Amino acid sequence: MVSNLELANIIFPDVKETLEDLERRYPSRNLKEGAEVTRFAPSPTGFLHTGSLFTSLICRKVATQSGGVFYVRLEDTDTKREIQGSGEQLLSQLKVFDIVPDEGYLGNEEKGEYAPYTQSKRADIYRVAIKYLLEQGRAYPCFCSQSELDEIRSKQEKMKLIPGYYGQFAKCRFLTNDERASRILAGEPFVIRFKSTGNHIRKIKVNDLVHGTFEIAQNDQDIVIYKSDGLPTYHFAHCVDDHFMRTTTVIRGEEWISSLPIHIELFEAMGWKAPRYAHLPVIMKLDEKGNKRKLSKRLDSEAAVSYFLEDGYPAEALIMYLMTIANSNFEEWIFAHKFEHMEEFEFSFSKMSLEGALFDIGKLNFFAREILAKKNKQEIFDMAYNYAKKYNPELKELIEKDPHFFAEIMNIEREKENPRKDYEKFGNLPELIGFFYKENYDQADVSSLPFNEKFSKEVIKEVLTALRDELSLDNDEQSWFANMKEIGIKLGFAANNKEFKANPEAFKGSIGDVAEILRISLTTKKNSPNLYYVMKVLGKEECDRRINKILSI
Ligand code: GLU
Repeated sequence: MVSNLELANIIFPDVKETLEDLERRYPSRNLKEGAEVTRFAPSPTGFLHTGSLFTSLICRKVATQSGGVFYVRLEDTDTKREIQGSGEQLLSQLKVFDIVPDEGYLGNEEKGEYAPYTQSKRADIYRVAIKYLLEQGRAYPCFCSQSELDEIRSKQEKMKLIPGYYGQFAKCRFLTNDERASRILAGEPFVIRFKSTGNHIRKIKVNDLVHGTFEIAQNDQDIVIYKSDGLPTYHFAHCVDDHFMRTTTVIRGEEWISSLPIHIELFEAMGWKAPRYAHLPVIMKLDEKGNKRKLSKRLDSEAAVSYFLEDGYPAEALIMYLMTIANSNFEEWIFAHKFEHMEEFEFSFSKMSLEGALFDIGKLNFFAREILAKKNKQEIFDMAYNYAKKYNPELKELIEKDPHFFAEIMNIEREKENPRKDYEKFGNLPELIGFFYKENYDQADVSSLPFNEKFSKEVIKEVLTALRDELSLDNDEQSWFANMKEIGIKLGFAANNKEFKANPEAFKGSIGDVAEILRISLTTKKNSPNLYYVMKVLGKEECDRRINKILSI
């Protein structure tokens, strides 16, 4: 009779190492009490999802805060789904957000004592662990073909039973080791399944750092742990890796909670202590009908981190926004800290809301404006230019045409106590500041500017002529405004809105209307940065040229 040990040797004759050898090769980490070892474990199957950025942010934060280690592991055992180059891309995008692992898979290299950090390079390690399970009788080869598995499934459907390979349906469980050995020696293809001892009627208690303690049905599925391509499946690989990379805390999306019973049983079967788990809430979105749904890779552009980068959001703003999802007290904290030094905020799992947060672009825009307003002239120039070079040829052209001019535009009301918050991203800069450039202004149709309809062409021309001839740009902002007021009063406009409202019949409009006529004439828009500074940047000559252009139609 073939014993478990013999069967294990028939399947893996060349595996000589033991779990003890691996324990020695990957010893416990020498870290201070309470230090957390966290990991981000992406599969190289596509772009960096906003939810994954959220996960890695928390992983980084928890490790840094506790004096621990954050590493990245590339989970590439599903070779069919792999997209070439996406691993490198994930890492370079994380870096943009200043999320840099201490060790692990770093894109084009690997760093750290627990290497390799790419699962496809760890086949030998997994084989040692699987051999151990075979020896223990907690794993067995399965020879079922796809059609046999389909047959099982349709039987289960008919009987209205939970689908899967378990209990009486787990056919190959009931083979003898002799039968197994002879089929393997005859060259029959097989996979290896875990032999579960669970029963889904029974519940286990699990403790989650976000969700607290809850009960969940035991696993009873004999899942595949080793595929015919010589690689393990995700469930098994993650268990081996988290053990030998000495992960203390697995932080990942809530969608993995349902797999937790499998993972816990695998750790038990291996005789290992399971790490602590923190399942993070999923980021949601309101659909057209007002229902909450998960941010979808397929439907929502904001599901991909690249969307924010391509649109020119400051990376810091997205991180700040994600921190508001992470901890309910963060928002108040960051206000009190004037949107600075968010790295000093103390994160805690217990302050994480259980309900998925709704993605709120308005809030992101708010943070982005705060952050961009704080940058000095050089910083904002560099940020805009770096963005433009990578993502926005139109903006690049504007900047390169006259870098000094661009810097002056961006510097309007910057570097002061209460800077203006005109910009939230760089993607819409050409649209917002294009008017500053002569060529763009000249392309606009000045015969259909959005002037208030209550003013006749004659009034508009009268106002513009007076402003052109009498409004000086040599004064400071206050005197400039006083100057404009005088001109307005002379032409029959009220000095302020209150005066105008009290007696509307007596005036053509208020001084605000005068400023609006001027603003629209110079910028083609109703909204622009501070008009005084717009004029300063344009210069008197260009302002006059624009006014003359309107006067001539
Ligand atoms: N590779 C898994 C994923 O793509 C990682 C899950 C985990 O963090 O355990 O999401």
